[in-house]
Amino acid sequence: MSILVDSIAKSYQSQLALDNISFSANEGEIIGFLGPNGAGKSTMMKILTGYLLPDSGDVEVASKNVLTHPLEAQKQIGYLPEQNPLYSDMFVREYLSFRASIYKQDKARVEEVIQEVGLTPEVHKKIGQLSKGYQQRVGIAAAILHNPTVLILDEPTTGLDPNQLQEIRSLIRELGKEKTILFSTHIMQEVEAVCDRVIIIKKGKLLLDKPLKELRESNLQNIEVTFDYKVEEQFIQKLPNLTSHKNNFDNTWYLTFDAQEDVRPKIFDFAQEHGLKILELSSKNQSLEKLFKEVTSE
Ligand code: ADP
Repeated sequence: MSILVDSIAKSYQSQLALDNISFSANEGEIIGFLGPNGAGKSTMMKILTGYLLPDSGDVEVASKNVLTHPLEAQKQIGYLPEQNPLYSDMFVREYLSFRASIYKQDKARVEEVIQEVGLTPEVHKKIGQLSKGYQQRVGIAAAILHNPTVLILDEPTTGLDPNQLQEIRSLIRELGKEKTILFSTHIMQEVEAVCDRVIIIKKGKLLLDKPLKELRESNLQNIEVTFDYKVEEQFIQKLPNLTSHKNNFDNTWYLTFDAQEDVRPKIFDFAQEHGLKILELSSKNQSLEKLFKEVTSE
C-alpha cells in the first residue's frame, strides 16, 4: 500500500476540517482528490506530508508512518504545495541545484529532472520570467529531485491556461507511470482526464472513493417505486433489465436495473400494462455527474 489514511480528524480551533477520513492508494495509482474550496484537501495533504499533525488517526506513506517517522516518510514523498514557493530571482537550474543540494543529489540528477519535466527550453531563464505552466514544472521538478515513490500535488493546475493545463496533465500522467500520485482539484474533467481513482471530500467528510473505470462503466440505476397496492415478487421480476429487487414496505420496491437507457418510462409502461398505478417513483442514483455537482455546488 502506497498511502494509508486511517480515521484522520483535524480541527482548527472550533473549525472541523477533516472528519474521520480513511482511504488508501495502491502503488502506481493516480488519484484525483476532489472537493470544493474549503473541503479539507490541503489540510489532508499537509498531514500526509508530515507538515501538520492530525488530532487523531494514523497515516502511512510507502509503509512509513508519517506521524512517528516523518523524516523517513518524507524521503518517499514529493510535495507540491498549493502556493508553489519559488524564488523568482533565481535561474531555473540554479534553483533546482540548490534544492538538489538539500537532498544531497548531484548535478546529473538535476539535468535528468529538467529533462523529465520538459524544462530544457526554459532552463536558462529566471523563475520569475517563466509562464505559470513552466513555474509549475519547476515546482514539480523540485518535488521529484529525490526520486520519491509518492507525489502529493496540491491543485497543480489552478491558474493555468488551457494549453498549460493539458501539458501539466500529461506530465502528471507520465510521472504516474512510475509513481503513486495524489493530486487535488476542484475540476471534474481533470479527474476524468488523468486519474485511475477518484476520492471526493466535502466539508471534511469522505463522500466517494472509487476507481473511475467502475464509475464510467456502471449503468446501474436505482429506483424506488410505490404502487397503489401490493405487488407480488414474481410480478416485479418481469421488469426488463432488473438486476435486484427489494420490498421495502408493503407497496414500495427498491429496484436496481442494468440498462443504458433511462428505465423510468419503462416502469410506467409496465405499470400501465398491468393495471397498476404508480404513486411515487424516484431515482436513487449516485451517478458521477450528480456526485460531482453535489460536491462542487456550495
Ligand atoms: P481545501 O484545500 O479543500 O480548500 P482546506 O484544507 O484549505 O480546504 O480547509 C479546510 C477548512 O479548514 C476550511 O474551512 C478552512 O477555512 C479551514 N482552515 C484551513 N486552514 C486553516 C487555518 N490555518 N486556521 C483555521 N482554519 C483553517
